[in-house]
Amino acid sequence: MHELGIMTGVMASAREAAEGAGAERLLGVTLSVGEMTEAIEDALHFAFEALCEGDSYFEGAQLTVNMIAPKSRCLECGNEFQHDRFHLFCPACDSFATELICGRELQIDSIEVDLPDDEEESGACPST
Ligand SMILES: [Zn+2]
Repeated sequence: MHELGIMTGVMASAREAAEGAGAERLLGVTLSVGEMTEAIEDALHFAFEALCEGDSYFEGAQLTVNMIAPKSRCLECGNEFQHDRFHLFCPACDSFATELICGRELQIDSIEVDLPDDEEESGACPST
């Protein structure tokens, strides 16, 4: 399952960031996922829940997924257009000579953590 592999990597990165920040627990993860990765949003949630189960560090954590629609630029006429995973041709001139501008993203936007001692500091913090 494609999504299980993705979420395993995402959670390892999120955990590393959370532990680096001194967090005792991870409360939430927000992801941006391009549709061209072929990841299915529901399957990402399912994989996340399966991976969280039995892991006290992630217990009760929430996953937010922002799906990003693919966008390409036509190499013939310069038109930029959104499309789905299967229709990559330019709607202006029907050319198939296009390059993908976005849609292959797979990144952690933010994580929410539970920091000990200072409740004020618990909130979204960048993963980078
Ligand atoms: Zn075109």
